[in-house]
Amino acid sequence: MITVENVRKVFPLPKGEEFVALGDVSLALQDNEFVTVVGPSGCGKSTLLNILAGLETPTRGRALVDGEPVTGPGPERGVIFQQYALFPWLTVRKNVEFGLRNRGVPRAERRATADHFIELVGLERFADALPKTLSGGMKQRVAIARAYAVNPSILLMDEPFGAVDALTRVRLQEQLLATWSQERRTVLFITHDVDEAVFLANRVVVMAARPGRIAEIVDVDLPYPRTEESRLSPRFTALRNRVWSAVYHQESVA
Ligand code: ADP
Ligand code: MG
Repeated sequence: MITVENVRKVFPLPKGEEFVALGDVSLALQDNEFVTVVGPSGCGKSTLLNILAGLETPTRGRALVDGEPVTGPGPERGVIFQQYALFPWLTVRKNVEFGLRNRGVPRAERRATADHFIELVGLERFADALPKTLSGGMKQRVAIARAYAVNPSILLMDEPFGAVDALTRVRLQEQLLATWSQERRTVLFITHDVDEAVFLANRVVVMAARPGRIAEIVDVDLPYPRTEESRLSPRFTALRNRVWSAVYHQESVA
């Protein structure tokens, strides 16, 4: 299980002032749940994710992954950002194998694992291609395969589909859910797109700004697998409106 306990994060500003990025945030994620975080820009979404990733240290409180306090980055936490952090000089397969190679996994096993995940994200035809020959959406699929390949307990995704066009984005959402439904894993997925937040998640965390905090948590009681039909259902619309109004009202008071 993954928990965030009373996390406060204060950034020092020039002239001795301080900026409270997170006031007092607590959150518990169940194993294998898909949680999305949505909220206005600057409400501390990335700060929260970076604390779980071990890239930022909380000013107060702590994050726990598998019962261990987070003190830095670790292989049990896969992180995917908006910009494609692939190694440009390595093929798709070598990119996906990278974390396994670091861990000393034998070559044949490494390759089998990489090929499994490459196939799962539908890129088997591109296993030997270099990243520069792929579209943005395909690069993010490689990043997802690479994150899964090292068998992390949690995937931390910070607006991973923010840089692709609307149709590709929808396809990536479906692809990610297909991968997740096979392989599971706890996912914390940040987005500022309310439709994306509802489509993917079983719970949507709505954050508010100044100070960054959790305003509301909305349970998404739509069954998986989610399809285009889910997106067109009255229940989806109702949930989307509910999340949207929570985000909208937060922004108007800020
Ligand atoms: P979000 O991802 O929700 O847009 P962030 O977590 O990136 O928000 O940032 C929250 C707030 O903290 C923003 O107002 C941002 O300017 C501020 N912030 C983030 N990192 C730093 C930093 N290193 N120093 C000062 N302020 C920061
Ligand atoms: Mg951010």
